[in-house]
Amino acid sequence: MLGLMQQWPLLNHKIIDSAARQHGAREIVSRSVEGPIVRTTYGEARTRALKVAQRLARDGFKRGERIGTLAWNSARHLEAWYGIMGMGGVYHTLNPRLFPEQIAWIMNHAEDRALFVDLTFMPLVEKIAPLVKSLEKVIVLTDAAHMPESKLPNVVAYEDWIAEADGDFAWLAMDENEACGMCYTSGTTGDPKGVVYSHRSNVLHAMIACMPDAMGISSRDVILPVVPMFHANAWGLAQSAPMIGAKLVMPGGKMDGASIYELLDTEKVTFSAAVPTVWLMLLQHLEQNGLSLPHLNKVVIGGSACPRAITEKFEKNYGVQVIHAWGMTEMSPLGTLATIKPEYADLEGDALFDIKQTQGYAPFGVEMKVTDDENNERPWDGKTFGRLKVRGPAVASSYYGGAGAEQFDAEGWFDTGDVAHINPNGYMQITDRAKDVIKSGGEWISTIDLENLAVGHPDVAEAAVIGVAHPKWDERPLLVIVRKPGKEPTREAILGFMEGKIAKWWMPDDVVFVAEIPHTATGKIQKTTLRDQFRGYRLPTA
Ligand code: ADP
Repeated sequence: MLGLMQQWPLLNHKIIDSAARQHGAREIVSRSVEGPIVRTTYGEARTRALKVAQRLARDGFKRGERIGTLAWNSARHLEAWYGIMGMGGVYHTLNPRLFPEQIAWIMNHAEDRALFVDLTFMPLVEKIAPLVKSLEKVIVLTDAAHMPESKLPNVVAYEDWIAEADGDFAWLAMDENEACGMCYTSGTTGDPKGVVYSHRSNVLHAMIACMPDAMGISSRDVILPVVPMFHANAWGLAQSAPMIGAKLVMPGGKMDGASIYELLDTEKVTFSAAVPTVWLMLLQHLEQNGLSLPHLNKVVIGGSACPRAITEKFEKNYGVQVIHAWGMTEMSPLGTLATIKPEYADLEGDALFDIKQTQGYAPFGVEMKVTDDENNERPWDGKTFGRLKVRGPAVASSYYGGAGAEQFDAEGWFDTGDVAHINPNGYMQITDRAKDVIKSGGEWISTIDLENLAVGHPDVAEAAVIGVAHPKWDERPLLVIVRKPGKEPTREAILGFMEGKIAKWWMPDDVVFVAEIPHTATGKIQKTTLRDQFRGYRLPTA
């Protein structure tokens, strides 16, 4: 027997429809690339998204075709997304921090036919566009007055282009399983891999994100997504904020402490989300200028492990609740969030921060497990670590074009490439990337644990741990350190600081000091490059 309920496909344009109808006057505030703060509303954004859809359709772009965006968080970028999705297109976010050749590779692989671009990135596009065979049109997210000179054919100013449409357009009727968005993983090893979101997965993901024990956001919030739309969908906020009708504050290209503080203060932001480095810059700015955060209630921190010092400062000094979260592009991206279950409601002080330090637990809609290399499930005991595998309605089922098939198994589990343990209450803690974990005599050593410990030394600015070949143990840890300016800690001082805080066999076999540690386009330590750099390194224990 089938249920007798309506088929109401989960389509992204229904989100902007609802925002316009229920919260039409709610503002979207953007720091524009041109300079000034500009204000629009969900009502206006919907009308302009309809114009984008109408204009794209009139230009001959079709259902299922990929349309790139190379832009900061702004109302225009948001309108472009909804316009692309509403005419059946697939928005494809591009990370401007990648090398031009990588961006061109990704655009060619996705066969992007058009590109929405911010003024900031026009010099980049001049380089890339001639390399992308499929690219027919470049729409610059600005008005005629700010249009730059360009040698490229078919470049238009966004405002002129949509002014030629009246918005009298009906969103395309579609199946909820049709593609609506695309994002490539950064590909620190091998070629980047394309993740293809469906309307259904984006809508479900946005609903999951809003839940009280996930991000817990409402129409009364003022939301500042610092995390870029090109970095794993701004963690879903471009869908979940309009879904619940929260005011949005878009930071454009300025993410330094002073600029973020200005928006937090003048727009009375209550909720924000960003990677740890952004918060470090903000906290420094607050401390240097003796500022406070009277409006901000909650921040979500993820993308890489959040240092405990950040969590403690926010909560103790500024009264801001921190939610540490883990996820990845392949998961739309939310995987787990460290909100507090009743089991931990009575915890205080360090014991509470210990829990907040974990990556948290999976909300409804995300299943997870940890396994050994033979796919045997490992216990949730808070210490046995293994490969972290996930499944759910907003988790990728394969990559575009079938790349990376070995990461997906027959039961629908996706191997995240992360190594983690899960405690009896479901709280997960990342201990490493599978390709970074050090296998010493058959046992695993967590490089992240060693790094976290080493950066706790007052003279250490940054630390990375890699495995180096060892004749007896296969691999042993080498600790790579960037010292704080003006500080000269010795090898012995650092090892002495770590001693007793970890198992003896986890202790690094050596310490080297470098001027700089290489980073990826999303700010993570580039361990492949480091491993190449120290490939022939002879450990004193070898
Ligand atoms: P990119 O490399 O482009 O940033 P993702 O955002 O998809 O791509 O990166 C996902 C990876 O980032 C995860 O698999 C995990 O290794 C790491 N990561 C994300 N959040 C956290 C976190 N809170 N703690 C530790 N690692 C994290």
